[in-house]
Amino acid sequence: MVYTECMSHSGYCAFCRSPKVYFKRKRLGFLNILGAFVGAMALNYIFRHQIDPIVFVIFVANMFAIELAIKIRWRMSLICHECGFDPVIYKRNPAVACQMVKAKMDERKADPIKTIFFPLALPKRKEIKGAEVGLKKTAQSIEELSAL
Ligand SMILES: [Zn+2]
Repeated sequence: MVYTECMSHSGYCAFCRSPKVYFKRKRLGFLNILGAFVGAMALNYIFRHQIDPIVFVIFVANMFAIELAIKIRWRMSLICHECGFDPVIYKRNPAVACQMVKAKMDERKADPIKTIFFPLALPKRKEIKGAEVGLKKTAQSIEELSAL
């Protein structure tokens, strides 16, 4: 429990700014390799009562399984559980990430408890402000033109 808490980091979702816990490491560490080797020797000794050269095959299989588990843990910790935002998919294909967030938001809207008691601080668009500035600029340019 303590070991897991040391490896995880707390941060915020890039989209909805809700707090989340994620894992930074996505590769094998020294302790993982050591654990894979000890596990391979233990498995070999349990089943054959001696250490054979097959221990290296088990060692490689253990390393493969641990690497896969670390990758899956890292990947699953990136996805926000509140809004469904996935930064990896957003980097590859923003339209698909947008659809995933919309689906999660629709699912969230259907649940009145989450909507009322746990609202999300979603980012707001500033198009209206930009449109006003654009209108002012066009108005200024029209005034300038009329002054000439
Ligand atoms: Zn989020």
